[in-house]
Amino acid sequence: MFAEPSDREALRFGEKSLTYAELHQAAGTLAERLKGNIRVAVWATSTLETCVSVVAGLKAGVAIVPLNPKLGERELEHILGDSKPDLILRDEPIVFGEPGTFDEPGPETPALVIYTSGTTGPPKGVVLPRRSLTSNIDALAQAWQWTSGDVLVHGLPLFHVHGLGIGVLGPLRIGGAVRHVKFSPEAIGHELATGATMMFGVPTMYHRIAEAVENDAALADQFRTARLLVSGSAALPASDHERIAKATGQGIVERYGMSETLMNVSVRFDGDRRPGAVGLPVDGVDVQVVDEQGHDVGDGAIGEIEVRGPNLFLEYLNRPDATEAAFRDGWFRTGDMAVRDPDGYIRIVGRQATDLIKSGGYKIGAGEIENVLLEHPSVAEVAVTGEPDDDLGERIVAWVVPAGEAPEPSALRDHVAKLLSPHKRPRVVRYLQALPRNEMGKVLKRELS
Ligand code: ATP
Ligand code: MG
Repeated sequence: MFAEPSDREALRFGEKSLTYAELHQAAGTLAERLKGNIRVAVWATSTLETCVSVVAGLKAGVAIVPLNPKLGERELEHILGDSKPDLILRDEPIVFGEPGTFDEPGPETPALVIYTSGTTGPPKGVVLPRRSLTSNIDALAQAWQWTSGDVLVHGLPLFHVHGLGIGVLGPLRIGGAVRHVKFSPEAIGHELATGATMMFGVPTMYHRIAEAVENDAALADQFRTARLLVSGSAALPASDHERIAKATGQGIVERYGMSETLMNVSVRFDGDRRPGAVGLPVDGVDVQVVDEQGHDVGDGAIGEIEVRGPNLFLEYLNRPDATEAAFRDGWFRTGDMAVRDPDGYIRIVGRQATDLIKSGGYKIGAGEIENVLLEHPSVAEVAVTGEPDDDLGERIVAWVVPAGEAPEPSALRDHVAKLLSPHKRPRVVRYLQALPRNEMGKVLKRELS
């Protein structure tokens, strides 16, 4: 599962760091105490201690349940009541004692129980076996030409698959290093200028980077030196992608994934970094785009993405109903809608539940309209939703955070009608000071009504 002990740096959080030898010793010492448990929760602060606790759990063959330290009482109650951990580790001190010896747990042994972001409903506990992690990290290493020479600068939280499953466990398997920073464009730029080779981020981070590199040529040069900038967890607006590429010469590699499947689809390191597209299925993973009956919709048409492969989770904890409903003929139904380009590239349209608007007999993806609205100079942020309409079935609503003075709604309508088709123009425009987002920067559309 992990790279062998050595004196190479594995993890660095601020002033604190561990080599692979130290990591194996500290995690092995803690693992000795964890042996025999089934599930262990970890209070997942952004610390070295969190990483060591997770590695210890994986060595001991227990399933780790990372907890978002900002959870409210009600949410914590839900997760602890559901996962019933045998123990909770909270900033567990790092001790270099006598590491235990362990048999490598089998590939189907649960490794992580990751609670989904709860974007569409109460969070579900996704049980990921070891083979999901190992197969996916290996497939990504291939897609991204990711090696032990890579140093990842990481500013993501440690309780989702993005920051923990791939961001921490990826480098630790491949043998590279992780440097964790509190996110700011400057902090990331500094690491890239001093040895870090790659960055993982969410679109809200890339939005801030786009603003920063346009105004700071020295910072743009720091980003220019990166080997690989990866974006995921939500759609990267095409405008941010293009702005960063222009200022730094770096196209962003977008990938699509979720708690249940890890990263299914990605642009390859040597592939075309096409704004608005997430690339091709990673090695070993099958992806199809289907209609409601499960038939392939063909290139260019909108359908639901279904996934099959060794990356898939085992089950939703305590939710056999939800697990069963999530599969059709062995394929996992993601609930996300996509379009496949003729060369196989996948474009995510959005979630079936909130991003697919059925208006006037058309199926319209919210993301396309959001991307176009973001090109308008008076729009800083935007989310597009559908709401019931007697005439149209659903009408398109644009929730806009203005850049400066709020534009006339008619100006935004005309802008969309000109660049896309008239039926895609928002009928209603509502202004907000900020969009409701979770800690990954995902817009919580169910809160917009
Ligand atoms: P819940 O399942 O509780 O509603 P969630 O789906 O947000 O929450 P995650 O598993 O953390 O929880 O997120 C996966 C989702 O994030 C995907 O299903 C998809 O909608 C979105 N996503 C991830 N990467 C991308 C991407 N590159 N482009 C567009 N959407 C993305
Ligand atoms: Mg989900």
